[in-house]
Amino acid sequence: MSCTILLIEDNEQNRYLATFLLEQRGHKVIPAHDGPSGIALATSLAPGLILLDIQLPLMDGYAVAQALRGVDALRNTPIVAVTSFAMAGDREKSLAAGCDGYIEKPINPETFVDEIERFLTSPAGRKQP
Ligand code: MN
Repeated sequence: MSCTILLIEDNEQNRYLATFLLEQRGHKVIPAHDGPSGIALATSLAPGLILLDIQLPLMDGYAVAQALRGVDALRNTPIVAVTSFAMAGDREKSLAAGCDGYIEKPINPETFVDEIERFLTSPAGRKQP
């Protein structure tokens, strides 16, 4: 099942790797470099899933997740936080801010796409329209 994924990530290397891995499995990736542009793109494009880096300029990922959850059309869109392993508390804060789950950096190319695809077919019944 291919999906349009909005990737909100300020680090070019992470963006490149995530995009490469997701496209290899047939997904379409739309990049955003910071929170405000990510929120604007999410609102206009209604992606099937949002991948959200937590450490971002301008607005951190928690604030971005809260803003995304405030948009009616995005209420059921899976949001997966990309958290840094070293940052204790990121996971809990991500979930509290409205994310459905998290993936740890550094990205593991062996498991990255499988982990994300789990959120496309969650028991909550979220499906790509
Ligand atoms: Mn970052």
